[in-house]
Amino acid sequence: LSRNPGETEFHQAASELLDSLDPVVRLHPEYADAAIIRRVCEPERQIIFRVPWVDDAGRVQLNRGFRVEFNSALGPFKGGLRFHPSVYLGIVKFLGFEQIFKNALTGMPIGGGKGGSDFDPKGRSDGEIMRFCQSFMTELYRHIGEYTDVPAGDIGVGGREIGYMFGQYKRITNRYESGVLTGKGISWGGSLVRTEATGYGTVFFANEILRTRGSSFDGKRVVVSGSGNVAIHAAEKAAAFGATVIACSDSGGYVVEETGLDIELLKDVKETRRERLTSYAEERGGSARHIAGGSIWDVPCDIALPCATQNELDEKAAVTLVGNGCTVVAEGANMPCTPDAVRVLTDAGVAFAPGKAANAGGVATSALEMQQNASRDSWSFEHTEARLAEIMTAIHDRCLETADAYGSPGSYVDGANIAGFIRVADAMLALGVI
Ligand code: NDP
Repeated sequence: LSRNPGETEFHQAASELLDSLDPVVRLHPEYADAAIIRRVCEPERQIIFRVPWVDDAGRVQLNRGFRVEFNSALGPFKGGLRFHPSVYLGIVKFLGFEQIFKNALTGMPIGGGKGGSDFDPKGRSDGEIMRFCQSFMTELYRHIGEYTDVPAGDIGVGGREIGYMFGQYKRITNRYESGVLTGKGISWGGSLVRTEATGYGTVFFANEILRTRGSSFDGKRVVVSGSGNVAIHAAEKAAAFGATVIACSDSGGYVVEETGLDIELLKDVKETRRERLTSYAEERGGSARHIAGGSIWDVPCDIALPCATQNELDEKAAVTLVGNGCTVVAEGANMPCTPDAVRVLTDAGVAFAPGKAANAGGVATSALEMQQNASRDSWSFEHTEARLAEIMTAIHDRCLETADAYGSPGSYVDGANIAGFIRVADAMLALGVI
């Protein structure tokens, strides 16, 4: 870690993985002999580049672009692009590192990578977003491809941005290479269910946890943080399973509605109109209250689904959740719970599902999009959703079986870390010292 000073989030993600690996290292001395742990912590390639673009006022703006190609032992690098002002190398590396093991857990042939930019899309016009995406792709295109590296969306990157980037890639390369990006629109190579997949998948995973405990979502009070792609679809599926989703948030505060959020209105405000949660509360009126600032985790609930961003649920919030009787926490976002929060939750017997298992449905459906692109086919919503549900159940079971086999029964954290790591480590051993 001293080789990577200042990359706080990457250190956190690496420590969380390494903490689970003691029993693996004892049982598999061949991993140490081949320096697998040191090699897996070192990206195969990191690209940092200048992204100049012109705003609506004719001024030249400058951002920094990143792509970290972390590990391709199992397949082409695969992972999203994040556009948010907080993006720097430490964030991209933590996300890329997590992605390696998440992708391995899906059982699909995809390696791990991540990228993005410190560009802030908030308040930017459609034309500015397009010019930024085109400039970003003008450098990125030379590093990616169906067989090398396949980016997707993440915070600040949805269907619109993927469209502008795909268009620029097509123009520069003169190739309609559908498999180069995932998260595409349905009429130009996308897969049904990809938009919903991460949120739905998180709820499928939590549903399996509940099922193993003889319970279900029916009648439960659920709090979902965030109100972006993952949060909205997690809320939608939890409600479809009979839960009452009573709160969600954005970076300005949160909305509480004890009788249950109106998911259709939420989608209209956030996805179609791209407005803030304050608009939702104003339009909904009645029982909906908007609380500016504050912590959404103060709202008492049975199930918590953190779906916004890293380190958004800290030790204090975890103590509050436990005190309020919360029994399941499943991470829809990447690393939203701090290590101290995870310790509080697991010590109290709360079933805790880490993001690399619980939010793997997004990338798994991206791999299904790649399958459809490769076979020039497109599947129905029902078929694709059924595949997603099967994949999430398989990941859930793999985590529990692995945790049992390595002496931490019931630990989804150890199960996910160990199962993901072993699949990657075995492939790296087979491929030799490269
Ligand atoms: P979106 O950009 O669609 O939504 C992000 C949401 O989180 C928004 O409501 C945003 O509020 C809030 N948010 C973002 N940053 C902060 C912050 N620093 N503080 C408070 N709130 C914040 O992103 P996604 O829904 O796609 O991603 C959410 C999480 O899920 C991320 O951790 C991502 O890595 C993870 N993930 C996403 C996948 C996908 O398929 N999209 C796949 C797997 C994981 P505001 O609008 O106010 O900024």
